[in-house]
Amino acid sequence: MMKTAKYIFVTGGVTSSLGKGIISASLAKLLQGRGFSVTIQKLDPYINVDPGTLNPYEHGECYVTEDGAETDLDLGHYERFSNTPTSQANNVTTGRIYQHVIDMERKGEYLGTTVQVIPHITDEIKRRISLLGQTGNFDFVITEIGGTVGDIESFPFVEAIRQMRWEMGQNCAVIHLTLVPYLAAAGELKTKPTQHSVKTMLEQGVQPDIIVCRTERHLSENIRTKIAQFCNVEPMSVIESIDAESIYDVPLLMLEERLDIEVLKKTNTPIPDTIDISKWENFLFRLKNPKSEVTVGLVGKYVELKDAYKSITESFIHGGVANECKVKIKLIHSEEINETSIDGLLGDVDGILVAPGFGGRGIEGKILAIEYARVNKVPFFGICLGMQCAVIEFGRNVLGYKDAHSTEMNPSTPFPVIDIMDGQKDIENLGGSMRLGAYPCRLDPESKVFKLYNEELISERHRHRFEFNNSYRKEFNKHGMKTVGIYPADDLVEIIELENHPWFVGVQFHPEYKSTVARPHPLFVGFIKAIIDNKRSL
Ligand code: GLN
Repeated sequence: MMKTAKYIFVTGGVTSSLGKGIISASLAKLLQGRGFSVTIQKLDPYINVDPGTLNPYEHGECYVTEDGAETDLDLGHYERFSNTPTSQANNVTTGRIYQHVIDMERKGEYLGTTVQVIPHITDEIKRRISLLGQTGNFDFVITEIGGTVGDIESFPFVEAIRQMRWEMGQNCAVIHLTLVPYLAAAGELKTKPTQHSVKTMLEQGVQPDIIVCRTERHLSENIRTKIAQFCNVEPMSVIESIDAESIYDVPLLMLEERLDIEVLKKTNTPIPDTIDISKWENFLFRLKNPKSEVTVGLVGKYVELKDAYKSITESFIHGGVANECKVKIKLIHSEEINETSIDGLLGDVDGILVAPGFGGRGIEGKILAIEYARVNKVPFFGICLGMQCAVIEFGRNVLGYKDAHSTEMNPSTPFPVIDIMDGQKDIENLGGSMRLGAYPCRLDPESKVFKLYNEELISERHRHRFEFNNSYRKEFNKHGMKTVGIYPADDLVEIIELENHPWFVGVQFHPEYKSTVARPHPLFVGFIKAIIDNKRSL
């Protein structure tokens, strides 16, 4: 049956980084628990067409969807919480909006009219918001607006919301997330920034229905009443969002605060009597009551950035919970790894993951870390560039291919064990041109990874230009590095595995994009299990 979607907008005020993504994902979880189908969309006000060309220093991790969109990392939270895949339509930037409008203008589609922010840009924003609702698959479309209200860049988005509210009445609600800071000197929580940010929205014609207050301390009744009065909302619609120990606590905190009920009331939706989030509660219980603990060394070149490996660190949480194990992550900068530092850096970890990445910085440190894992039989997991480095290391140190490399780092290497894909050789535009999104992979039934997936044909998401060079395949297999996962259509190596090692797996794809609370990724579950078993056997 085709569903008629209602639209929930989530805006932010006062400051960025208030956790709009987590609030949106938590609301989705609660609405799902009440039997509704929900999708979440992120509108980003920057001019890049997508975040694929942004480096992690600017924007944290780039998340990839099934259909190969390079998107904001919040989409990762949406999928991990809601267990529903997102797509290109779930992340739209100002750049993409303008690109479309300008293309239309060049084709003459506007029939000689002057093309303007209002109505042409705002119409295109509205069209992008409505697209997901029009699929007929969703009861609710939650649209998170990136940035902070009052920013010049977000004006057209707020204007689009204003128009949609006007057009849709109660089929639409606006949640505004603000900060209620605690001033230690005054010993008080302060509501003034919230009042100002709601005023900024009012100036743009949007009255929020619900105000979610991010705070370090509980809001008193007094504070709630004050915010309600100054911001023209009901006291019940002032929701406290207190700092949580883990992002996975937030859905339950929002349930206590009745955020879902307020949304259903505001959108005139009949409220189901019950909510089923028992699986989530069970996950949380296991997260908080681990039976063992392991430490994984995460080797990469962006370790100083909290968000650069977001999906990987979250996948470790899911894989850990599945094993009732707390996974501590030791971030290790690949540029700091050398012959003398290596024992100190890796000596105390129980498993090693070498991260994805681009370019040569820190590459020799990654290769050294892999040699350490291979020789000392430490469980190892290599993802994308991490897998490619494992192939390079094996080529150099086991097969004796001196200076073996990827042609990404050394185009004139005598042993190009990792080489550029044919289809990538003449690429001119860097944006959106990698091998992206989901591809099938056939597993060798004799492999360790097959036992984890328990199926022969899997599908995983990609983001790379280089691949295992098939001219070396025989030699690698003969000497114990087995190519156990293949993309059948183009005969590309997707997974390698070492013989005679507790657990040494490299994957060309990104399993971390597919791990969710409801479905922890089998490779992360298997890696953690191998680490626990290996630790016991020592
Ligand atoms: N730089 C490598 C490639 O393009 C690996 C990419 C990655 O790790 N995502 O193939």
